[in-house]
Amino acid sequence: MNEVKTPKKPMMFYYGIFLAVIILFNAIVMPLLNNMRVKEVDYGTFIRMTTELNVDEVEIQDNQIVFSDKNGNFYKTGLMDDPALTQRLYTAGAKFSTEIVQEMSPILSILLSWILPMALMVGLGQLVMKKFTDKAGGGNSMMFNMGKSNAKIYVKSSSGIKFSDVAGEDEAKENLTEVVDYLHNPDKYKAIGASMPKGILLVGPPGTGKTMLAKAVAGEANVPFFSISGSEFVEMFVGMGASKVRDLFKQAKEKAPCIVFIDEIDAIGKKRDNHIGGNDEREQTLNQLLTEMDGFEGNTGVIILAATNRPESLDPALTRPGRFDRRVPVELPDLKGREEILKVHARKICVGPNVDFSVIARMASGASGAELANIVNEAALRAVRRGSKAAMQADFEESIEVVIAGYQKKNSLLTDKEKMIVAYHEIGHALVAAMQTNSAPVQKITIVPRTSGALGYTMQVDEGNHYLMSKEEIENKIATYTGGRAAEQLAVGSVSTGAANDIEQATRLARAMITRYGMSDEFGMVALETVTNQYLGGDASLACSAETQTEIDRQVVALIKKQYDKAMTILTENKQKLDKLAQYLYEKETITGEEFMNILNS
Ligand code: ADP
Ligand code: ZN
Repeated sequence: MNEVKTPKKPMMFYYGIFLAVIILFNAIVMPLLNNMRVKEVDYGTFIRMTTELNVDEVEIQDNQIVFSDKNGNFYKTGLMDDPALTQRLYTAGAKFSTEIVQEMSPILSILLSWILPMALMVGLGQLVMKKFTDKAGGGNSMMFNMGKSNAKIYVKSSSGIKFSDVAGEDEAKENLTEVVDYLHNPDKYKAIGASMPKGILLVGPPGTGKTMLAKAVAGEANVPFFSISGSEFVEMFVGMGASKVRDLFKQAKEKAPCIVFIDEIDAIGKKRDNHIGGNDEREQTLNQLLTEMDGFEGNTGVIILAATNRPESLDPALTRPGRFDRRVPVELPDLKGREEILKVHARKICVGPNVDFSVIARMASGASGAELANIVNEAALRAVRRGSKAAMQADFEESIEVVIAGYQKKNSLLTDKEKMIVAYHEIGHALVAAMQTNSAPVQKITIVPRTSGALGYTMQVDEGNHYLMSKEEIENKIATYTGGRAAEQLAVGSVSTGAANDIEQATRLARAMITRYGMSDEFGMVALETVTNQYLGGDASLACSAETQTEIDRQVVALIKKQYDKAMTILTENKQKLDKLAQYLYEKETITGEEFMNILNS
């Protein structure tokens, strides 16, 4: 292990400040101190004291006369046109002096003008340095922070986050339990010659609890927790990031066993490319990180956890064995996970008696842990707004919509005609979904405009978890998306802009069917697209010839057209139901899935 050197502080800076303080002190404070001892009197008093032979020493300065009496008190007075003054003073026996006010004891003078400011400076410096080393950064002052890592140390405490605070994510927890066990009991591992992975990569979409898991590992193992974000390494000056990495590891090794958590590691760990004038700073930082990871032995007790939602963009050098060789997926929670997360967060608020978290979890499909935490908080806020003491089921249900679709727009600007069109549109979705056997029933339909811009929406409920979707199910889903537009066409005879989002979703699904799921007859099981950003929206890039692209586009169009026609047929066959339901929704603005089914089946 090679010793690491702390980067040099800018010493010139301290000397500069030191000199400035001493000069200021001598220029301002000393005269002030002197002045405090000198009493100002009028000229008459001066003359009187002279005649009374009470003047001991006198100095006639440029603009004033300073003198002392026989008791050692100092006085000063203004200068007068007084030619006889010198003679008078002489006869009064006054001593003429040139440095009357400087007559402070020399020791005191040195003490005050040199030692005191020095002591002050040192004290101040100590205080500042202490603050910076205690918190290991946190401030933004470039001067003090040069090359210091901003890792925040969360000192081990019993109030730390534990695994029980992280709901769901059982696989991830199981994976990390081993690390905790190792930190508790390293000898067990050493005895057999096993070493812990140095780095563990937590991979998953934003808000799924990666940071929480890392903290929980530290909390469970009762070890210090260092956390730093990858973006904090990337500094304005080349070389700073690298020295921060050095510093971070130095701190960590001193505190071992401990957990180092690097959030957003992709900010420094991106694949190095050969761009001319590429990002030197980032590459240096990454190289330093790689060196540091190689530099310490597997069993020093420093375990590095890193989080990213772009695993594919990481440099292969970072993920090779010996570095971040273990990968723990932290996925979006499933139904059960969502329910547990809701319950964990609901412990912090007052919840009414009849709240059914499984229903709420079902409604919030696709929500991340962070969103669920937000939903619970919104429900509590809504309860306060209502003047209620506890959050009720309705509060939770409304807050899901708030988190997903934004707040209700209070003064809706929809005209009656628009409102009618929106009602038809939403019922169109719901009706098509309900009439296709495989589609999930609707939970709630609303045409109250939202701040997100949605004029209304249909909340579908998936019963349980879906890991697989059959071709028919996807087709039905596409048909459901087109149902809104089809209903508008059927009822009003024209179409509106309201279907923009539906069109996007339907196209995305249809495209994926052909290019990724191998569900087209012509292409079969050929991957025509690769997903580049699995956890952030799932962007895909085409990997085929131009001719094939043309063919894909043609097939997508045909596929959606077919589903649109199917939706149209369903709605035409049920035109009466459509009218009745749309009218009902128009009047009530929000209807539940139950009301919907009742009217449908009546
Ligand atoms: P990430 O680091 O994956 O982006 P965080 O760990 O910062 O996500 O999570 C953000 C917030 O979301 C947490 O503070 C917590 O309130 C909530 N959260 C996320 N996942 C969970 C979970 N599995 N259990 C409980 N709360 C969670
Ligand atoms: Zn729609």
